[in-house]
Amino acid sequence: SQTKLILAAIRQSDFLNRLDADETSMMVDGLSQREQQKGEYIITEGSEGNTMYIVAEGSLLVSQANRLLRKLQKGDVFGELAILYNCKRTATVTAMTDVKLWCIERQTYRAIMTSKSKRKREQIMGFLKGAKTMKGLSDAQLSKIIDCMEECKFQPNKAIVQEGDEGKTFYIILRGEVRVTKTISGQQRQIRLLGEGDHFGELALIRKIRRTATCMAVGEVTCISIDKETYNFSKHVGQVSSITKPQSVQCNNAEKDIGNRKLSQRWASCWVRTSAGCIQFRTSLEELVPVLYKEGRYSGEPVTLGVGGFGRVELVSDAMTGEYFALKKISKKHVVQMRQQEHISVEKRILQSLDCNFIVRLHTSFRDSRFVYMLLELCVGGELWTKLREVRRFDEVVSVFCSACVVEAFDYLHKHWIVYRDLKPENLMLDRHGYIKLVDFGFAKQLVKGEKTYSFCGTPEYLAPELLRNEGHDCAADYWSLGILVYELLVGSPPFSSSDPQRLYSRILDGVIKYPAHMSDAARSIVNKLCRQRPGQRLGNTKNGIKDIRNHRWFSEINWRKLALGQIEAPTARFELQGPLYANFDRFSPDKSNVEEEFSGWDEDF
Ligand code: ATP
Ligand code: MG
Repeated sequence: SQTKLILAAIRQSDFLNRLDADETSMMVDGLSQREQQKGEYIITEGSEGNTMYIVAEGSLLVSQANRLLRKLQKGDVFGELAILYNCKRTATVTAMTDVKLWCIERQTYRAIMTSKSKRKREQIMGFLKGAKTMKGLSDAQLSKIIDCMEECKFQPNKAIVQEGDEGKTFYIILRGEVRVTKTISGQQRQIRLLGEGDHFGELALIRKIRRTATCMAVGEVTCISIDKETYNFSKHVGQVSSITKPQSVQCNNAEKDIGNRKLSQRWASCWVRTSAGCIQFRTSLEELVPVLYKEGRYSGEPVTLGVGGFGRVELVSDAMTGEYFALKKISKKHVVQMRQQEHISVEKRILQSLDCNFIVRLHTSFRDSRFVYMLLELCVGGELWTKLREVRRFDEVVSVFCSACVVEAFDYLHKHWIVYRDLKPENLMLDRHGYIKLVDFGFAKQLVKGEKTYSFCGTPEYLAPELLRNEGHDCAADYWSLGILVYELLVGSPPFSSSDPQRLYSRILDGVIKYPAHMSDAARSIVNKLCRQRPGQRLGNTKNGIKDIRNHRWFSEINWRKLALGQIEAPTARFELQGPLYANFDRFSPDKSNVEEEFSGWDEDF
């Protein structure tokens, strides 16, 4: 009876009812029981949650800022969001009576979903390897095929393949049985019975043929299918060169082993592109002087360009050359408290290894007892987000140009098997020519070719469905977010949104996009093609890779060669700078906080 109650509860939840039968039963096994007494708090508003609950017995009250919202009873689910990611609770739940609850923690839930996805991929991989036509394909190629496969269900007695028809598709049986029959001297004869893991229709992948037998579902059958195009394209999954270190940045680590307590004395030799060409110079933390606000409320205080999750980005200039930079200052203590050491190190490592005109350059890094620093190329144009909010939505010319810059950045990253995972207007900055640069590599990840990654990160409105389903993701997730970006630039808000995260996630998983009347056909088409639920069917991740995006008619006005060389006049140049260097940024009050020192040594890389 408890299982029944739990299953009913899962079906009732907009988010959980998307789990398949296997996932649901694993979830049921992963639940543990907890008892709490009348008057106890189960969840408190503002705290960080990691558990989801199903009421097994008793009743509870949900309240927000002391306002009663609703009552929860046997069979109700609450706190589901917490099993997806670390989130602040938005309401308080109190037991009105003694209660019995079924609960599951995020770690358990994620472990279940991830292992299930991995197992399923491995299983299908095994099936594929059993097929003759797949012999000789690498794991990366097989993995690509899996990304493109469709799962399809057949009712009992449905002919999946009909003798004599032209065949284009290859099937593998995931569940159920298939009867193979052939017409022999005018009579239907059964020649085989196929079961789980067996495949049929293989020849269709290699040449044009007519089916030589009929394959009929005996009971209900689930298959995965692959068509010829997908197969051909997966065979061409290209080789990609390994990542190269840019020549423009060199760090001298001669003094690397000085104690952490001292200011790091490292200096860096930087190449900076100026209108006069490239100049090289050396700088150190001491030689970088803060630029001060010239007027206004904060006159005389250091200019802050932005404040992020871990610190701030300040405007500095090099004392010797007068060259301007953005200096990102991150509190080490805060990083340790939030257990983000690995993230910050990865961000630095990845950023430093990149050399692309559409990605902000990291010239060098420093560290002292309180902060780690990243010396970044200055993007004087400010955030694209600010411009977008000013005009509400961009016209087609601006949107095409900005998106094209992102395509260039993605092309570079994906060639090196780096997923970016945090595309949004807030992370796009404008340089002085109006060109777009990607900043904030806090979620970027270096992938192993052909492998998926399972961590949950990004910005809710931009999350790809495979992330929400914990299926594992790769560069295709970036193409999804590109579709979302194109839409947001043209419309002013993303295609899927809701103040309730669960509703937002349901909308993403449903994938129904509404287009306002002013959106052109070409724009609708590219968004549709980028925002396909199956990663393997997304533009950019199909046959010709990112070329398919470049060749889409929405980009027909872009001369890609000229764009790469910076020879196109940017339509965004009209946002150009007037006033001081920081005119395109919000004003920030000076940082008077007392930042504690931190000596654990995680920051050796900086
Ligand atoms: P988040 O909370 O978004 O993860 P973060 O701590 O990773 O923030 P960033 O997003 O890298 O920090 O930077 C914070 C803000 O500083 C940006 O939104 C932007 O306004 C500004 N900024 C960052 N890099 C530069 C740059 N190179 N030039 C000018 N301004 C910058
Ligand atoms: Mg940011």
